[in-house]
Amino acid sequence: MIDLHCHILPGVDDGAQSLSDSIAMAKKAVDQGIHTIVATPHHRNNSYENPKQTILERVKELNRVLLEEKIDLKVLPGQEVRVHGEMLEGYHGGEILPVNHTPYVLVEFPSNHVPRYTEKLFYDLQMTGLIPVIVHPERNQEIIEHSEILYQLVKKGALTQVTAASLCGGFGKKIKNFSMQLIESNLTHFIASDAHNITSRSFKMRDAFGVIEKKVGMDMVYMFEENAALVIEGKTIYKEDPERIKRKRLFHIF
Ligand code: FE
Repeated sequence: MIDLHCHILPGVDDGAQSLSDSIAMAKKAVDQGIHTIVATPHHRNNSYENPKQTILERVKELNRVLLEEKIDLKVLPGQEVRVHGEMLEGYHGGEILPVNHTPYVLVEFPSNHVPRYTEKLFYDLQMTGLIPVIVHPERNQEIIEHSEILYQLVKKGALTQVTAASLCGGFGKKIKNFSMQLIESNLTHFIASDAHNITSRSFKMRDAFGVIEKKVGMDMVYMFEENAALVIEGKTIYKEDPERIKRKRLFHIF
């Protein structure tokens, strides 16, 4: 199994704080059946600054340690980029690091809204040959309330990644149900852990795939696994035409 989103690099963000944390996470990942993991530290916020070059060096170092520790896990470089107006300049300036140097770049929205410039920015990114992958849309308040926003972005070529723990109920029932709706409406293309540690924000990949298998069948599980493999090689992924999420009767006024 491949995990496309994980905060396993030590001491760079709110994920692993030390090398021993990273090693514990690596062992847990292997337990889950993960053989390849993309290290995706937060690019930048008030407390961290993780440009491309720093991540590449840290990933190399962590792979060296894992080899020494005889842990059978390969770490690939990546980054979780908070959406911002200068993303394209950041990419050209060598700050932004897509997943394993492919066109796929993980983009995070603020938790409560989707900036209005996103559609234009995604258009520009795609014109440059990049493919934006929106991480954890199921946890964004505005998307939960107005799924049409996500539908429009996906229709115009954006991809999305649902967090494994969301499907297991780790963020509550509402987010769990919405995550399933995203899958059923072809509005998501990847499942990843977004693991930060081995306690409160662990991997849950096996559990999530179990939930998907039970609700929509094994074919969907295979598709998600295959898509992760295609992404790290920079190949075209499988996707179906997105559909609008049908509102439940409960919400109908008339
Ligand atoms: Fe993350």
